Amino acid sequence: MTAAPPRKRLHSATRLLHAGAPALRDGAGPVNVPVVRTSTVRFENTAAQADHHHRRTAGERVASYGRHGLDTHRALEDAVVGLEGGHRAFLTPSGLSAITLVLLALLSPGDHALVADGVYAPLRRVDSTLLQRLGITVEYFSPTHDDLASRLRPNTRLLYLESPSSLLYEVLDVPALSAVARDRGVTVATDNTWSGGWFHQPLALGANISIQAATKYISGHSDLMQGIVVVDSPALAAKLSTAYEALGLTIGADDAYLALRGLRTLPVRLAQHQRNATAVAEFLQQQPQVSRVFYPALPTDPGHALWKRDFSGASGLVSFEFRHATPAAANAFVDALRLFGIGASWGGYESLALAAQPERLREHRQWTGDAPVVRLHIGLEEPQDLIADLAQAFADAAPAL
Ligand SMILES: *Cc1c(COP(=O)(O)O)cnc(C)c1O
Repeated sequence: MTAAPPRKRLHSATRLLHAGAPALRDGAGPVNVPVVRTSTVRFENTAAQADHHHRRTAGERVASYGRHGLDTHRALEDAVVGLEGGHRAFLTPSGLSAITLVLLALLSPGDHALVADGVYAPLRRVDSTLLQRLGITVEYFSPTHDDLASRLRPNTRLLYLESPSSLLYEVLDVPALSAVARDRGVTVATDNTWSGGWFHQPLALGANISIQAATKYISGHSDLMQGIVVVDSPALAAKLSTAYEALGLTIGADDAYLALRGLRTLPVRLAQHQRNATAVAEFLQQQPQVSRVFYPALPTDPGHALWKRDFSGASGLVSFEFRHATPAAANAFVDALRLFGIGASWGGYESLALAAQPERLREHRQWTGDAPVVRLHIGLEEPQDLIADLAQAFADAAPAL
């Protein structure tokens, strides 16, 4: 048998499929990483325990206690570090806890953070309930309308982005924004959940930290809550590690396993989400009741050129604005859907619809309309079935639209 080709020469989809595969013992072994569930670690003797402890405090990724995670966690961390092209990964119990970890690790009393106004809305609650109490100032700005350089203050420590943004998928110029921030010594973090880490590698474009809700596309099956933070340097890894330990964060080995299993099919699922979502977005564009469709892969989307430059594909999220409908009529439309579920979250195999809250839209400078917006997550069903469901809902709710 010939040796496997060097890993670097393999395509990233191939690397993702084989990341973390366990070594063979006595000529055989399982295909998959074992689920190593444990609350603690046993040592041969006190010297071995001390050695592990020292290596760990020196920054080495070894476990001296269950909370640090063992083989399953390591395999997932390695796979997402490879996916995002980073230095080290941290696994958290939800996407929101990944965001909070980054904020608490990098910000101290008196610090200022600039946050893009289209970010995942619960970040604002972390700000109002926790960061303000700690004397940290968060300022929201529009990365496409405001001049970043003039917003940076001497105490600005963090630029926090999300591209494309939640709900309206505003594509940000991550390379340009990162260059301005880094020039002034400001760390750049960005939420990369939309792309699953597969269609977009923000660390290669100048960001220092990539955050994902693995709850969404990495899991892919609506059966997992998990967050992932990938950092680009040992210095940031040390900062994150200190906060991660202090907060006592960890995830269960079963959940690490599920995320790793999801990663194996991420590229094929996302390709299908894109095909289905494109078909639905094109259908929506032709509906007289619809005034705008938000989907960066559409040539008419304002973010299309940036998306083409910085992304290799588009996800399954499509939002649209009604031309005239009242909020009640938009709700009637959503209620008339039969195949789409109604609910928050997204990234699973199934299609979901959600009527956007107007106050969420108004927080976002990109939003210039006043008609209701519906967010669709286009799943892996046959797109013709989804289009038929949307068509019957438009017909059913027609008198109100
Ligand atoms: C869902 C989501 C999160 C939060 O993830 P949870 O696992 O639900 O806490 C963070 N960022 C974005 C963009 C999301 O869509």
